[in-house]
Amino acid sequence: MTSDIDSTVGENGGPAVAEAPEWPQLRLDRDVDVCVVGAGLAGLTVAYELARGGLSVAVLEARQIGWSASGHMLGTVRPGYGVPLADLIDRIGLHHTKDLWVLSSYGADYVRAIAEQIPDLAISEGALEVSTIESGDQLIERLTLLGNEFGTPVEGWQIEQVREALVTDRYFHGVYYPGAFQLDGRRYLHGLAALAAKAGARIYEGTEVVSIDPDGIRKRIVTPQARLRASHIVLAGNVHLGAPHQRLTDTLLPVWRYAGVTAPLGERLAEAISFTGSVADSHGIDHFRVVQGDRLVWSSPETTFAMAPERMAKSIARRVRTVFPQLGEVTIERCGCGVIGQTVHGMPQIGQMQHGLWVASGFGRQGLNSSALAGKLIAQAILTGDDRWRLFAPFELVWVGGNIGRVAGQAISWATRGHAAAQGALARYHERARARLLAREERREAALAMRNAPPAEQPPEQPDGAGAPARDNVSPPPP
Ligand SMILES: Cc1cc2nc3c(=O)[nH]c(=O)nc-3n(C[C@H](O)[C@H](O)[C@H](O)COP(=O)(O)OP(=O)(O)OC[C@H]3O[C@@H](n4cnc5c(N)ncnc54)[C@H](O)[C@@H]3O)c2cc1C
Repeated sequence: MTSDIDSTVGENGGPAVAEAPEWPQLRLDRDVDVCVVGAGLAGLTVAYELARGGLSVAVLEARQIGWSASGHMLGTVRPGYGVPLADLIDRIGLHHTKDLWVLSSYGADYVRAIAEQIPDLAISEGALEVSTIESGDQLIERLTLLGNEFGTPVEGWQIEQVREALVTDRYFHGVYYPGAFQLDGRRYLHGLAALAAKAGARIYEGTEVVSIDPDGIRKRIVTPQARLRASHIVLAGNVHLGAPHQRLTDTLLPVWRYAGVTAPLGERLAEAISFTGSVADSHGIDHFRVVQGDRLVWSSPETTFAMAPERMAKSIARRVRTVFPQLGEVTIERCGCGVIGQTVHGMPQIGQMQHGLWVASGFGRQGLNSSALAGKLIAQAILTGDDRWRLFAPFELVWVGGNIGRVAGQAISWATRGHAAAQGALARYHERARARLLAREERREAALAMRNAPPAEQPPEQPDGAGAPARDNVSPPPP
């Protein structure tokens, strides 16, 4: 996975990766209060919060900061989880869902507060969730729930408004989140690492944790070159964790998500897309936004087995052309991918597995707000005994089914996409049929109106022909 979305050009035009500092390898044994395994969004947030709280923290990263999901995300931040609200309410009730929703909004606010301390994040405001089918009634239900019950600022967009901002017949209604925003995710991650280091956390790259012994008051962590002892271990390795806690790793379905940046598209892009925030469809298939003025960053395909990102460039270009055919030929200049960890229930894994052994993973596609929330909750639990992490207790660690689960996951993904495509095609067919019917009705009514119209009043006849209708261009009858 060597290719990066932002490896040569950051979202504000500058070199993104070149500015990322390198961190040392751990070569000497150490004693710390907390050892964090994994330097993605989750690990770095918890490390920053713990270091700020005065604890000694070591973050061990097997490769480099941001090599996987956290370095390849689109940077959209909005409240919520990967599970539809209605499903959450069915499962844990309205009251409990509200508490979790408040936490998710808190996660989004937290990211904004951190982002204010990091320069050049190219922040843009607002996110739009669009439906690929006509969903007026569901839209109203959703808006009422989000706005009235959950206190989230949202606006319902009618089809015309959506299509003014996004010129395509693929999208119908929309839910607009004015409080959502997007940032340059890679810069955010490296900025967060710098903040954590400034607060006193020690970060080590190229330092894989090969095993842990979490029993006892002082826990042991083994890396190829050195050992650590710590009172707490935070497992934030996502699907990559492996041997240190295989049982936990087996509860995450690895999903490779690919994203690409187009070559400049010029003015035709502004004609097709005037919305400046990020757009995602309600099936979670396409997620995109305009970057650097006239390029698109577009994330779409997903696989449960690794594929070279370059092989996905064509499929991303195809998606762009499918939704916005007027853009014509689209070249994907750079393509990258990251692996997201999908849980069986769709909710993140946040909490304490045994005394002093914490888990922060399984953030799926909505990792920015939920990993921030996880980091903050776990740090607060360690620092002050805050036990709000228990709100996630109903979402236990469930085995995802190994290789069979991955095959099934891929089949479900294809089926979902196929189903969504069929539903979308049907919705567009209905829309066209309705338009044809309406046009036919209008023509019929116009014909009827003409037929039923009273005959035009004849002017009274003049003996000398004065007042008779003009007969220009009519040849006089032959003599
Ligand atoms: C294309 C794409 C677009 C996305 N867009 C968005 C978006 O717009 N908004 C949003 O909110 N989310 C988005 N996401 C999701 C988000 O990126 C993830 O949910 C989030 O980054 C997960 O963070 P993490 O810290 O759990 O995992 P990771 O980023 O995977 O980090 C885990 C780290 O732990 C390290 N590690 C694992 N095991 C060990 C070990 N044994 N020893 C040492 N280190 C170890 C790994 O090397 C890795 O660096 C997107 C994801 C992708 C792929």
